[in-house]
Order: sequence, then C-alpha cells, then structure tokens
Amino acid sequence: MPRPTLASSRRTVGLERALAHAARRRSDHLRDLARLVSFRTVSADPAAAGSLHDCARWLARRLAHAGMEAGVVPTGGHPFVVARWTRRAGAPTLLVYGHYDVQPADPRDGWTSTPFRPVRRGEYLVGRGASDDKGPVVAHIAALEAWLEATGALPVNVVALLDGEEEIGSPSLRRWLRATPPPVAADAVVVSDAAMPTAGRPALVRSLRGMVALNVALRARRPELHSGAAGGVRNPVEELCRVVAGLRDGEGRIAVPGFYRRARSTAGPSLVVTGVAGGYTGPGAKSVVPASATAALEIRLVESQRPDEVAVSFERHLRGAVPPEFDVSVRVLKASRPVRLPLEDEPSRAAARALRTAFGVAPAVVASGGSLHVVPALLDAVGAPVVVMGFALPGDGRHGPDERFHLPAFARATDACIAFLHELSRTRVPW
Ligand SMILES: [Zn+2]
Repeated sequence: MPRPTLASSRRTVGLERALAHAARRRSDHLRDLARLVSFRTVSADPAAAGSLHDCARWLARRLAHAGMEAGVVPTGGHPFVVARWTRRAGAPTLLVYGHYDVQPADPRDGWTSTPFRPVRRGEYLVGRGASDDKGPVVAHIAALEAWLEATGALPVNVVALLDGEEEIGSPSLRRWLRATPPPVAADAVVVSDAAMPTAGRPALVRSLRGMVALNVALRARRPELHSGAAGGVRNPVEELCRVVAGLRDGEGRIAVPGFYRRARSTAGPSLVVTGVAGGYTGPGAKSVVPASATAALEIRLVESQRPDEVAVSFERHLRGAVPPEFDVSVRVLKASRPVRLPLEDEPSRAAARALRTAFGVAPAVVASGGSLHVVPALLDAVGAPVVVMGFALPGDGRHGPDERFHLPAFARATDACIAFLHELSRTRVPW
C-alpha cells in the first residue's frame, strides 16, 4: 500500500465526490437505462438496422454530454460507438467495452410486458437488454459522468467502445481491431458482461468458454413429394434428426471424433441444439415428404480446444453421417476460442479492490459458462490484461423472456465502475 501523499489524498477526495454525485443521480441513471432499453437493437434482425443506428447516435450524444469526445463509427454491419478522454498524461489508459445490441425478443411466450417498452417492477427494470448489456453500459457511462461532473476530470485515460454486434459475434469490431497500426492502445480492458452469484456478491471472471455456432442444412435433389405416393424415399427431416441425435453417445458425451483431445475434462465443453426446422407444422395437415431440413448447433469449448479444429471435425462428422442423396451445407456462424484470465495483474487487483469498495465484500472468482467473442480479439489487439466484472443476476433472464436488471445491483455496479477508475489511477504503468 503506498504511503498517503497529497496527490493520493486528493484522489481519495475525488472518489468521494464522484460517489456522492452518482448517489444523487440514481433516478437519472434509471431514466437513461429505460431510454436505452426502448431502442429495438436486435442485431440479428436486418429490419432493426435503423434502431441500432438511432441507438448508437443516442449513446454518442450521451457520452459527449458526459464530457467525452464521442462518435459513431459506421461499418458494413451495425455501427459501434467510440468515446475518448485522454487528457491525463502518464496515467494508465483503460478501454471500456460494452454492447448495445440485444438478443431477439421472440418468441414472445413468457413475456409479461412488451420487450422494448421497459417497465419498473419492484426492484427491477424489465425489458430486453436491461441486464445484457445495457444496464452495465449505463453504469459505466454514469461512472464517467460522475467523475467528470464532480471533479472536472477522469483519474485515468479512458476509451469506451460500445459494440452493436456482440450478439452476432462482433464481426465488424473484430475486423476493426485487427487493423494495422492498431486503432486503439490501452493498458487495461474492462468488460462488464457476465453474471454474479448474488445481489450482494459481485464477480470477477477467471475463464470464459469458447464457442462454435454452426448451421447444418440437408437438401434433397428433388422437390417436396406427395407422402402417399413417395414410398421408400428418404426424408431429410428424419435423417437430420437422426444425425443430430447421434452427436452424443449413450452417456451423453459428444461423439465427434477428437472432440475432447485438447480438453482435460469432459465436464466443461457442451453441445446444444439451438433449433431445428423443416417440413410443415402449420395449421391442418400437409401430406408431403419435405425437401430440406436445417439444424443450428452451439458448441462451447474449454481449455485448449480450438474453434477451427472443432468446426472442421464437426463438419467432417456431419457430412460423413448424412446419406449420399442429400446435399449438405455446414456454415460456421460464430467462432471464438476459450480464454483464461490470470487475475494476478494490476488491473485485476484494482478491480477486486473496487468491487470490495462498492459491495462491501470481496468478489467471487467465477468460471463463466458464457462466451464473449470479443475478449480474445481484445486480448490480441490491445495486448493488455482484460478484466471481466459481472453485475447480472442468475435470475435476470438474459436472452430469455422478461429480462430484467436489479436496480440495487445497478447502483452498486455504478459505484464499482467509479471506484475502478480510482483504483487504476493508484497503479503505475507499465505494470
Ligand atoms: Zn452480453
């Protein structure tokens, strides 16, 4: 612990001012979150492109109002927002990553309110994206604003990146990050897009699973046939169901050869069939043998498993299992490698202290079951430690119906973001 100096006590006064400022503005933060949730920013839906644009512009304006230099970066897909404040020479630079796009809200089953018309219900704000990831995004913006309004400056340099394509694998941002020279330099990265165990106990993530999401489609080289007349013709829906069911053995282990080669345990990786489509299931009955069928698979990876190898072995296995009279296509939709975060670096220690300041307890160190495609890309592009803090609750319904964000956790998350900037300013770069 450094000896208190005039500079360090001035910094502590700054922290207290910023925390007090945020405490007075909780209702403004809630209003910002409700506004942000009201944008229908479903990145997977091409019809929502206009809403994503509007939302990006709103965020840039909001960050500019907070005192950041902010702009919208157009891409071939949905735009992202970049905001900078870099006036503290010699201090570390923190890259804050968040995303403003959301998962689709369909099917509507299970929603008791309108997904993009946020409502307050007890201690929660309910609406698509409230927890993933708009609540944590507003917590970071509120933290920056609290420092800038209460003290006129940030204690460290900050670059904020708000992605509009996280839920579809961040293709545009990942391409941008790969540019030479690197478009952004930072000494640490913080991502707040993970869950914590309880409202009183925040999380620091030590590992993230990788992922391969792929679609497999079977197509017969013939049209739909009359089911009464088509004796003995193979049915692509039945064949696809058989092939997909065969991806596991009798013990539930993934039966694709070589799958566990780079994983020490068989417990961590997983396979989920996220959807199957084919044939006719509408009103009444239609007597046909369908011509095509599609399945969507999501494979989560751990340890040293490599998404490229896994994609190739799944593709080979699927092609080999399908009868020759069908055309098979396998499309990889998303791929990212698993990540281990050592947590022994200065930014992770600073984050642990900040979480303790805000929540009053040490954070839980968790192995996240989720995947954040952007984290490997940030590690490669920035080359700095990445801190993943979790503020979402297990019951928040991220990706599900009636998604919600816990408002007391929102307040503590905001305070943790404020304290993190302070704790980082007490460290010296290079680490
Ligand atoms: Zn997310």
